[in-house]
Amino acid sequence: MAVDVYISEEKIQARIKELGEQITKDFNGEEVTVVGVLNGAFMFVADLIRAMDLPVVMEFIKASSYGDGTVSKGKVDITLDIQKDIKGKNVLVVEDIVDTGLTLTGLLEDFKQRDPKNLKLASLLFKPARCQHKVNIDYLGFEIEDKFVIGYGLDYAGKYRELPFIGVYSEDF
Ligand code: 5GP
Repeated sequence: MAVDVYISEEKIQARIKELGEQITKDFNGEEVTVVGVLNGAFMFVADLIRAMDLPVVMEFIKASSYGDGTVSKGKVDITLDIQKDIKGKNVLVVEDIVDTGLTLTGLLEDFKQRDPKNLKLASLLFKPARCQHKVNIDYLGFEIEDKFVIGYGLDYAGKYRELPFIGVYSEDF
C-alpha cells in the first residue's frame, strides 16, 4: 500500500519552530515540565522541546480512553504515569492528535487534580470533524480533515511511526 505525503517534513518543522518560539515567549524563562503522551507524541515532543529555549523537565505518560464517549465521559486509564510531582509546576502536555477529544479530556481532568501552577496543551494535529469533547488546545500544529493519518509518530498497527512526514494511504494499492 502506498503512502502519500499529507503534511511534509518541511511544513511540520517550520510549524514546530513557530510553536517553540511562542511557548518560549509565554513561559518567559520559567522551567516547564513537558509531558509527552506515548506512544504517538514521541517524535513531536522531541522536536518541540528542541525548538523551545526554556529549562525543561521531560516526562512521559501513557493513557487509553474507554467507554462510548457518552457514558464514560473523559475516563482514562493511565497505564504509565509520570514520575514527578507536578504540584506548583508549569506543565505542558504534548499530544500527537486530538480526535474525539476523549483521551485528553480525561487526562487533563486527572492532571488538574494534581494542582499544577498552570496546565497547557500542545497537539500537533486536530480533527474538528470528529470532536466530541471540546479540548482547549493552547498550541496547535495543524487542523486536518477527517482522514486517518500515519507517520511522524502516528501508527497504523504499530507501523509507520518512523516516517518524517504525516501521510495518508493513497487509493491505488
Ligand atoms: P481521542 O481520544 O482524541 O479520540 O484519541 C486520540 C488518539 O487516537 C490519538 O492519540 C491517536 O493515538 C489515535 N488517533 C486518532 N486519530 C488518529 C489518526 O488519524 N491516525 C492515527 N494513527 N491515530 C489516530
